[in-house]
Amino acid sequence: MVSNTKVSKADFYEVLGVTREVSDQELKSAYRKQALKYHPDRNPGDHAAEEKFKQASEAYQVLSDADKRAAYDRYGHAGLGGQGPGAGPFAGGVDIGDIFGDLFGEMFSMGGSGPRGSRQQRGDDLRFDLTIDFEDAIFGTETEVRIRRLEVCAACKGRGSASGRGPTTCAQCQGRGQLRFQQGFFSVARTCGACGGTGSVIGDPCTTCRGETRTSTEFKLSVKVPPGVEDGTRIRYSGEGDAGRAGGPKGDLYVVLAIRPHDHFERHGYDLHCVIPISFPQAALGAEFEMPGIDGPVNLKIPEGTQSGRELRVRGRGVPYLNEKGHGDLIVKVVVQIPRKLSRSQRELVTKLSESLTVDNKPASPGLIEKMKDLFN
Ligand SMILES: [Zn+2]
Ligand SMILES: [Zn+2]
Repeated sequence: MVSNTKVSKADFYEVLGVTREVSDQELKSAYRKQALKYHPDRNPGDHAAEEKFKQASEAYQVLSDADKRAAYDRYGHAGLGGQGPGAGPFAGGVDIGDIFGDLFGEMFSMGGSGPRGSRQQRGDDLRFDLTIDFEDAIFGTETEVRIRRLEVCAACKGRGSASGRGPTTCAQCQGRGQLRFQQGFFSVARTCGACGGTGSVIGDPCTTCRGETRTSTEFKLSVKVPPGVEDGTRIRYSGEGDAGRAGGPKGDLYVVLAIRPHDHFERHGYDLHCVIPISFPQAALGAEFEMPGIDGPVNLKIPEGTQSGRELRVRGRGVPYLNEKGHGDLIVKVVVQIPRKLSRSQRELVTKLSESLTVDNKPASPGLIEKMKDLFN
């Protein structure tokens, strides 16, 4: 139910048969070619074609979005986190129909709205954005949300008519729901305006839903967030979307998680990153102390001679893996603090130290400084 993209997937560029340098225009035309070839309307019952069609749609959806493409180029599928199109029909929750509308106009009527010429329609998939705290994403949480969706009209019990007589066949399209005409090579279908593509009309519409058969209703949902979710993770609730029209099947609900940033910790995948200051003596001599981790105190060992900016890895103290055993790591970057002010006795000590330090620790040699000057001239 919860999906971070972890399965190995085909390369998006390969799917569309383009190079990584492809321009937006070439990308569009490559996608158009694939989509025309594999569109379900042209390959009824062919699951391999349907799969290819979905892959191409998914690839195009990512690569046509500059941000997503950049993330994909850098990190591959993992870079999309939960944000990329993942599970569900046509990458559920994201309206692939938009892309199609743009590319093909009404050349195809998109699937997903039930059999043509029927009043019955599957309910829409809904998206609900839920923002949770950083810790809740790590430890998991359960929270109740209120969501509006279309539910079967209680007044007419979803029949749509006041008298219960039900709909009659649309005279305009003879119940087909579409009007067809020829445009170039294609036979173009247009939705019938008189019946809105349903093929039937209601003579005495229900006063509550105006014949629509559904009404907007608020409901409560308890969202269970498992430990280890990432920003953008989608949780799918099958059948919790809009009710279908005129008794059609229900849509799905996708809860999309956004994670509030933390003051001290940053997350990179399943690893947690933080920065802590240490003193020069701690860095030079080594030290061991307790620091606060996200899940309790962490014992940190600073090895002798640690350089400022060094990252120390504490195994297993990061984020728990989603749906799996184990944790990522905590990565602590230590930054050596230089005292801004010294007392007289401290100054003497540091001066003594400076005099006793070896060649390794002396400031940059005059030769190097000359070289740097050349660089800037
Ligand atoms: Zn009604
Ligand atoms: Zn009609």
